Amino acid sequence: MENVHIAPVIGPEIESGYIRIEGDRIAELGPMAQSPGAPGTTRIDATGCLATPGLVNTHHHLYQWATQGLAQDATLFEWLVALYEVWAAMDAEVVKGAASAGLGHLALSGCTTSSDHHYIFPKGRGDLFAAEIEAARELGLRFHPARGSMDRGRSAGGLPPDVVVEELDEILAATAEAVDTYHDPSFSSMLRVAVAPCSPFSVSADLMTEAARLARDKGVRLHTHLAETLDEQEHCLEQFGMRPVDYMDKLGWLGQDVWFAHAVHLSDGDIARFAATGTGSAHCPSSNGRLGAGIARVSEMLRRGANVGLGVDGSASSELTTMAGEMRQALLFQRARYGPKALSARQALELATLGGARNLGRQDELGSLEPGKLADLALWRVDGPFTAAVDDPVCALVFGPQPPLARLLVGGRTVVEDGELRTVAHDATGRAGAEAHRRLMRLAADR
Ligand SMILES: [Zn+2]
Repeated sequence: MENVHIAPVIGPEIESGYIRIEGDRIAELGPMAQSPGAPGTTRIDATGCLATPGLVNTHHHLYQWATQGLAQDATLFEWLVALYEVWAAMDAEVVKGAASAGLGHLALSGCTTSSDHHYIFPKGRGDLFAAEIEAARELGLRFHPARGSMDRGRSAGGLPPDVVVEELDEILAATAEAVDTYHDPSFSSMLRVAVAPCSPFSVSADLMTEAARLARDKGVRLHTHLAETLDEQEHCLEQFGMRPVDYMDKLGWLGQDVWFAHAVHLSDGDIARFAATGTGSAHCPSSNGRLGAGIARVSEMLRRGANVGLGVDGSASSELTTMAGEMRQALLFQRARYGPKALSARQALELATLGGARNLGRQDELGSLEPGKLADLALWRVDGPFTAAVDDPVCALVFGPQPPLARLLVGGRTVVEDGELRTVAHDATGRAGAEAHRRLMRLAADR
């Protein structure tokens, strides 16, 4: 790759540089003047483009592609109560179609690695976890699915109806099986599994504790929703007599192997504990805005050394949100709250790349463009008729709407070229998502 502006996230930016890829790794990069020329290699002329690390999405619910646009003016709890019953009708076919659309959409916004948090497994509806993994494999994205779960239904003081929860023992067995079947800890891994009970208001303390034990036994990461809304904080104070972070701390859930989704309502002490323990969080500004949840204290967290990545969150709480768009949304939210110095364009890019890689425990392999790291990168066209008026390409990428995606490489393999998916039929993923929506609405109406 030649003649490209490189924003490597770690190390200095290079205005006109080259990146040489060997196998699935970055072999070297530098200014064009020092390019070795490497005869016999495939050359990509990237004049007019900006190269960044591939974006890393650290919170999602792919199945929600099938329930977008519903409960439009609801709070989180109202929205969940409206949708749980619909989700109870989903099957593997819905999940596959929704995941294809969701992941295709992410790839087209520069995302090379995505996590997913799937926590509803209606009985007799096929293998939902396998369905989303198949979608990611077909597309060729690096995938970190988290086996989610809920065991605290309404009759036990939880928020979800009993019909969508599972028994603790079956959850632990299914989660262990998911890890044993799919988790690949290798450097080049395309798939790693995390353990992810859903939230304090839908999961028992026993499940939280046992899930943490299971994840640590298996050497995989832990994920859940935390401190998303003031309603959740109230629920925790009422039911457990403590605030969400205190509760999770008590259950052994702070540590370098944990990342929480949202973390909006944190105290100064909570932020200090996140920093001290290496606990990460996935900031999902569009979803927080859509549900009126609040604005996370991201710039304060960064200043105090707590790791933050970005997440698009499920498409039902942030319709058609893109990874590139979340950089802009994060920047605007922080500046709206704290002023124009709260978050720079380059800090927003770092959240979306290295911050995300750290959340997933993959900072040695992903998140920056450096020799030896995996060749996951996005090539943005910044010489178009509108972006060309902005001299700083990182500013054009983060401050403005998403520029065209010239190329997306995952482990050196082209997944997107000139704004079109190359690993699967470009239009097929969107069609599969629309069909998944229609199918789920039919199934839900028939229940
Ligand atoms: Zn979520």
